[in-house]
Amino acid sequence: MPSALSRLPPVHEILQSAQGQSCIDAHGHAASLACIRELLDEYRQRLLDGTADIESRESAAGQIAGAALERLDQRHAPAMKRVLNMTGTVLHTNLGRALYAPRAVEAAMRAMTGPLALEYDLDAGRRGQRDDAVQALVAEITGAEAACIVNNNASAILLVLAALAAGRETIVSRGELIEIGGSFRMPQIMESAGTRLREVGTTNRTHLRDYEGAIGPDTALLLKVHPSNYQVLGFTHETRCPELLPLARRHGLPLVDDLGSGTLVDLSRWGLPHERSAQDALAEGVDLVTFSGDKLLGGPQAGFIAGRRDLVERCAKHPLKRALRLDKVRLAALEATLALYRDPDRLAETLPTLRHLARRPNGMRAMAQAILPALAAALPADHAPEIAASQAQIGSGALPLQTLPSLALRIPAPGASAERIARALRHLPLPVIGRIAEGAVWLDLRCLDDPQPLVEQLPGLAALLAERTARELP
Ligand SMILES: *Cc1c(COP(=O)(O)O)cnc(C)c1O
Repeated sequence: MPSALSRLPPVHEILQSAQGQSCIDAHGHAASLACIRELLDEYRQRLLDGTADIESRESAAGQIAGAALERLDQRHAPAMKRVLNMTGTVLHTNLGRALYAPRAVEAAMRAMTGPLALEYDLDAGRRGQRDDAVQALVAEITGAEAACIVNNNASAILLVLAALAAGRETIVSRGELIEIGGSFRMPQIMESAGTRLREVGTTNRTHLRDYEGAIGPDTALLLKVHPSNYQVLGFTHETRCPELLPLARRHGLPLVDDLGSGTLVDLSRWGLPHERSAQDALAEGVDLVTFSGDKLLGGPQAGFIAGRRDLVERCAKHPLKRALRLDKVRLAALEATLALYRDPDRLAETLPTLRHLARRPNGMRAMAQAILPALAAALPADHAPEIAASQAQIGSGALPLQTLPSLALRIPAPGASAERIARALRHLPLPVIGRIAEGAVWLDLRCLDDPQPLVEQLPGLAALLAERTARELP
């Protein structure tokens, strides 16, 4: 054993090997050195245990450096890997919701790589307002008098409540005290904003008289919340904004409508279910609407407060605005995204989110056929995939009960085999995220733009499946 230990190359020789130089090129000297030391410790232990041997010092140096490069490549790989969204959920919150439109990418890139007139008035040559450009576009598109832009819709609601209702009461229907994605709970946001929640009505029915009876000297505003991710069916009654407005006016109270998804066009023109838009709400006379930038609007993560100028200004002047404001990159991307709405006829081409939502199953068939043979070749015969009709979803809480007819590759996989195949797909170099349902793994094609990257890596799937099977054997 001591003889094998003596053949262990010293650190400087390992670093000087060709592989050592590649490792330094890729990961720098400090990380390479630390990793090689780590590997040397492991080798030493294995030589002592007799579980490894060393033929020559030179070959060992190259081997250890190669192992260091491989280990660091893995360890330093970005955790936020790019993936293929084949879940059938277009706006998947866990996969980053809306994709940037190419125009938004260009604008974001410009903002990232050079100075820009962010808060600068080029005419006057002095300080300007950060939200001005986007505010003007929101006004143009929605008819709002003014708008204030913040980090996301949760921020928008927090800011509205803090600016307009802190220390006083906010009236909300019990049927609208929503939770979204675990961390957004309306009662908790209200508490954080310092407003007192005054619940009215019941879970399934809230009448105008319930709101009326709750209004008192401490009431600051009436809040309507779009129950994005669920629906109460059966014996229900919702008091809608047009019915609430006269009451709000009579008492001089603002009516705020949290719309959630940020629809700015009538989606039914692309065969999609109709969703109330910001324009719809503002045209009814709602004082303020709030909505997200990265849901149906199809832009970067952002939150909008739009509507009456005096109310928007109170939000914009509140100290929390500074804490919740948007950075230049997203503001630039947002300006470019909103500008696309000036040409609504081409939105299904220019906005990736709408393009994915508007797709018809027949338009996905050629892609399914291009992928099927490679997928079949990578899977065992008892998991032979087929092209099947599937149901896709908009996602992000938009219209949860409405599905979009879609097309998928269906891999029959009863019991535990479904998770085994889904996991192998997730371990491909470009991870493929599918969905398990009805004894099968479904790869929905709705959000796939190009089949090539998927087809190219499918030969690796067979190896991943074999590897796992071998490891699972006793
Ligand atoms: C999605 C949603 C929110 C939260 O929006 P974020 O942009 O994710 O912060 C709030 N309210 C409603 C009704 C929503 O649909």
